[in-house]
Amino acid sequence: MNSILHFGSSVSEAFSAQEWANRAYDIDGIENKYDKFIFGNKGANLAFIAELGFPVPPGFIIPIGHELLNSQAKYENILYEAVDKLGQASKKIIGDAKAIMLLSVRSGSPYSMPGMMDTILNIGINRDLFRSMLMHYTDKVWIYDCYQRFLYAYSVLVYGLSADKVIGLVKHHAKTIEDREHIVKKYENIIMQNVGSIYDDAPIVQLSKAIASIAASWANERAVYYRKMHDIDDKMGTAVIVQNMVFGNKGSNSATGVIFSRDPIYGSKKPMGEYIINAQGEDIVSGTKTPYAINSSSNYSLQHTMPQNYNELLQCVAALEKLYGDMQDVEFTIEDGRLWILQTRAGKRTPHASIKIAVDMVNDGIINEKQALLSINPNIVDKILYRQFKYTDEKYLRGHGLPASHGAAVGVVALSAEYVQECAKQGKSTILVRNNTSPEDLCGMHMAEGILTMHGGSTSHAAVVARAMGKPCIVGAKHVEIDLIQACIYLNGDRINQGEYISIDGDSGAIYSTALELAQSKALPELDIIMNWASKYKTIKVFANADCAEDAINAIRYGAEGIGLCRTEHMFFNVERLSLMRAMIISKNVDAKKHYLEQLYVMQVADFSSLFSIMHNKTVTIRLLDPPLHEFLPNDDIEIEHLANNMGIAKDALCIMISSLRESNAMLGKRGCRIGILHPEIYEMQIRAIFQAFCESKSECKLDIMIPFTIMKHEIAIIKGMIKDIASQICTIYDKNEIPYKIGTMIEIPRAALLAYELAPEVDFFSFGTNDLTQTTMGLSRDDVSEMIRHYVDNGLFTFDPFSSIDVEGVGILIKHAISNGNSANASLTTGICGEHGADPESIKFFISIGVDYISCSPNRIPIALLSAAQCAINRHNLGVKYHSQFPLEL
Ligand code: ADP
Ligand code: MG
Ligand code: MG
Repeated sequence: MNSILHFGSSVSEAFSAQEWANRAYDIDGIENKYDKFIFGNKGANLAFIAELGFPVPPGFIIPIGHELLNSQAKYENILYEAVDKLGQASKKIIGDAKAIMLLSVRSGSPYSMPGMMDTILNIGINRDLFRSMLMHYTDKVWIYDCYQRFLYAYSVLVYGLSADKVIGLVKHHAKTIEDREHIVKKYENIIMQNVGSIYDDAPIVQLSKAIASIAASWANERAVYYRKMHDIDDKMGTAVIVQNMVFGNKGSNSATGVIFSRDPIYGSKKPMGEYIINAQGEDIVSGTKTPYAINSSSNYSLQHTMPQNYNELLQCVAALEKLYGDMQDVEFTIEDGRLWILQTRAGKRTPHASIKIAVDMVNDGIINEKQALLSINPNIVDKILYRQFKYTDEKYLRGHGLPASHGAAVGVVALSAEYVQECAKQGKSTILVRNNTSPEDLCGMHMAEGILTMHGGSTSHAAVVARAMGKPCIVGAKHVEIDLIQACIYLNGDRINQGEYISIDGDSGAIYSTALELAQSKALPELDIIMNWASKYKTIKVFANADCAEDAINAIRYGAEGIGLCRTEHMFFNVERLSLMRAMIISKNVDAKKHYLEQLYVMQVADFSSLFSIMHNKTVTIRLLDPPLHEFLPNDDIEIEHLANNMGIAKDALCIMISSLRESNAMLGKRGCRIGILHPEIYEMQIRAIFQAFCESKSECKLDIMIPFTIMKHEIAIIKGMIKDIASQICTIYDKNEIPYKIGTMIEIPRAALLAYELAPEVDFFSFGTNDLTQTTMGLSRDDVSEMIRHYVDNGLFTFDPFSSIDVEGVGILIKHAISNGNSANASLTTGICGEHGADPESIKFFISIGVDYISCSPNRIPIALLSAAQCAINRHNLGVKYHSQFPLEL
């Protein structure tokens, strides 16, 4: 068992601001010697910076898993000892009204979970102590304030009273001491009525109960939900920090606040923060009071009210940033003109800021390129391509709040998390509108398109959480009123009912009383820099799934090295082509089919030509027609009638033809290369179009032709024969010696994976269609099982959805087997992945570990794939990055 760790400095020992700054620069690059897996992130950082001389109030950390966190009675002597030692360090005495030692009891897990667990401040004051303190200290307001706050937190978190019962304790705006005396008495009575006389615990008993309660807050509902959402191990547990209070509520020379070393919204180098004079910390994070900005020209800014502390704070924060090599989120309190640091951690930021900051820090020499790449969570880089409104309409503008997280969102007004979920079930998007969000709203925030709050500033819970989720958010929209009884809101007096549409712009803070149309987003130049670095370090190729010119252009813009999957069926989905396709499928004889295929042929040539020209000299992988023909058939009456007219046949006759073509299990029916074998004219048309377009476009792209859904080498042999024949015909027409191309097959049925050694000699490449392979290996019909998967995930049967992240033990092993057998049967075989898993960071890690040569994913997920691939490559060479990675990937 790890033992208790003491840290911190008393007032007399703390360094001056200039000294902290110098020391921090001296020790630049030093490793944090305290393990966050033992002491928690908050505790390890506090102990570390305290030792470097930063002004941290003294305290001690009870490590994760320590007995003191579970059973109180047996280990009381350990607690007494620790408190004694702390008392000596701080020259205060617990339970002594003349030298009162008040304590804060804080949680701290290995990964920071802002606001998800509890904190109790002002422990160590009780009824008697409070009364005698009133006699010993002149600052009566401060004593009342501490006692009120204590009664509130302790009765809620230790005695389990509902917050509503005692909320008046801290919310009440008392004007006089008599007012306060009255409130305190009233609440002492309420608490006594609810819990009996034991409410008046001795300080050390308070402490041990508080420790147990804070340790237990690891398992509270919102913390569990947060961990699930962020993939944090549920079994880790929390450490508990016991620390001397410093008082931001000691009058006009005292304050408490939060500062980010850089702007967490846009990432600019200007520190940004908020503070409240004469208050304690929870006032700021809970968003119950709207704070003032730290640095502004306003008379209320810290820069203006406490200029010396402000300068110290900036120096301190810059030193911390340099020390950790990352943007810091710092909690501070000023007690009577003296600055104290209460917490420092890597700051949560918008995807936009996270990219900008990484690039700036490299330019400033604080970190190197590899560290910068590791500092960005790959799952958020695509969010940078935020949505904006296509156009805005001032007619509907109903005022502004504070912009807190990027992007535009449109949805119906939802006044509760429950309503958000109800709408989600109906596939309706929502904007969660609340006075201020509490961590209980987490699930609703997660499912809403955007968040709008009436109170709080840009460090309030809503703002911080929304940024981490990459969700548009506006806070502090004071002109918006919520009427819960009527279930509506008023936007500058304009009534909007729950369920009616509004639009919010997280970049400008504008609120509109209508559903505006959303457009694609603008690019951020720093993203290109990051993508260039990623391309430099990654070891596998990254291709795009692109079916049309627009996709191809985006693919190149985001850094794809080619097209790994062009699904030719998508070329048939516009109205005109669809009816030709339908007529072709329904026609019974081959000549009639060919009549329609000729018309489709012309269109395909044009499609392929434009793809080839756009892709220049890059790889273009074209997959021959794959989906079940069944999928093209018309369903409703009007469509059938329309087709009958087009084809010049009777509607009834057409209906009979259609029903003879229907399949009951189409995904395992007439699809993939089976189409090419049963109806060679279809594949012949496509192959001819590919080669003709290739010759006509004079493109130098590397042409790959891919055969879908194979289960045996004979299928490959037949299609290959077709491809070869047509290639030589086209060569003759264009007077060429040869057309360079490669042939590959998709591996998407277990049999193909198992027989890889037989298939490999027939082809140049394998492309694993992981969507179908997951479907066929697990026997899960992707279109039918979403509810079942949700149930499995919720009940822990699956730890994740196997259609988003590869099922390593099952599907993954098949892929691994196929790659190694394929490679041994054909030394020049190339292997790749296409399908949704190609842009999932966890899956990419696995794919790289089994030796794939490329991954292919949709164009706007290319940044995710590139960054993940680079992170794997960097970590693989074990470059020992210490602090910078919020979301480390390890192989
Ligand atoms: P969280 O993990 O939710 O941020 P913290 O443990 O950081 O919880 O505590 C919340 C707030 O309580 C802090 O922002 C700080 O303002 C206040 N606080 C914590 N410890 C102390 C202390 N020793 N003295 C004064 N205020 C404190
Ligand atoms: Mg807390
Ligand atoms: Mg904190």
